[in-house]
Amino acid sequence: MKLHEIGEFGYIDRIAKRFEDMSSPGFLGIGDDCAIIPCNDSEDYVITTDLLIEDIHFLKDRITPVELGHKALAVNLSDIAAMGAKPVGSFLSVGIPAETKVEYLDDVMLGYHNLSRKYNVPLLGGDTTKSKEYLTINVGVVGKCLKGSARLRSMAQEDDVVCVTGFLGDSSGGLEVLLHQLPETKDNLHLVRCHHLPEPHVNEGLWLAKHSVIHAMIDVSDGISSDLLHILKASRKSALIDIDKIPVSETLRKVALSQDWDLERLITAGGEDYVLLVTLEANSFKEINTGYKAAFGKDLYQIGNIIAGESCIKWIRNNDEIVLHQIGFNHFNKA
Ligand code: ADP
Ligand code: MG
Repeated sequence: MKLHEIGEFGYIDRIAKRFEDMSSPGFLGIGDDCAIIPCNDSEDYVITTDLLIEDIHFLKDRITPVELGHKALAVNLSDIAAMGAKPVGSFLSVGIPAETKVEYLDDVMLGYHNLSRKYNVPLLGGDTTKSKEYLTINVGVVGKCLKGSARLRSMAQEDDVVCVTGFLGDSSGGLEVLLHQLPETKDNLHLVRCHHLPEPHVNEGLWLAKHSVIHAMIDVSDGISSDLLHILKASRKSALIDIDKIPVSETLRKVALSQDWDLERLITAGGEDYVLLVTLEANSFKEINTGYKAAFGKDLYQIGNIIAGESCIKWIRNNDEIVLHQIGFNHFNKA
């Protein structure tokens, strides 16, 4: 059997099945944004790791080293944010082609260090090896939360509203700009910046998790059509999503129109925005949004609802239900 026949998530399922015999009370293993390990009577550790490989996750001649260092940590902090936890330390392992300049690597660490300082997450260790051809960066982050307070993909409830904490599609717009080598206009550069310098919603995640009416959370790394589906599968629910309510930046709207991009594809299946996708009790939305707005100066964007049914997204456009064939990013899918 070829890998593309089962895809990234089919492969992860096979790994998870093999380890089903080793589950322990209080632990959460494969299948969420982070694993959970009990810490003490009142706290849990949450742990995540993510791998970035040159030419697969980044183009070394397009992303600056400072941006690369930032992004390698940011994508992990985003998974900690999705649990509603506080990051406490990171680990960094690198495979480096021998001819790489030390100044380049110093700049990677400058970006990594700047973001570490912003969220007060010290680098606690890692590993360094030679790589034959491609720069490879693996980061792991450990976080902490009150015992039982981590928000899981399995926590969505029927009638919850579905919200996101920021614009969707900007990052994949930035990738389009890079791949098509579009001119460096202010708008194009803004989109590329969203792709290279994602801001993890750590403080937003911590704030949201303090409220019991916030149910499931995940960060949008592969596009909502894929990431929402993870929530729906884990929670055994379906969702109704209104495409017209998905928050889109003016910049993306403008560039998409001028380039004739499929905006709907970018906002439903485009990845790497690293905003949070959250489900919460419908009755509490107004109150939560008021508090959230006071804390962060921006809205929680309501894009739909959780409904009964097994794991399917129903898309609404102009008040009509439509069929979308978008799938989010999945390694090993055939192009
Ligand atoms: P995320 O996008 O939030 O980083 P992924 O989609 O990469 O999550 O992974 C989904 C789940 O599968 C996570 O719990 C992750 O830890 C787990 N996972 C992915 N690859 C492996 C692997 N090779 N071995 C064990 N667990 C894995
Ligand atoms: Mg995630």
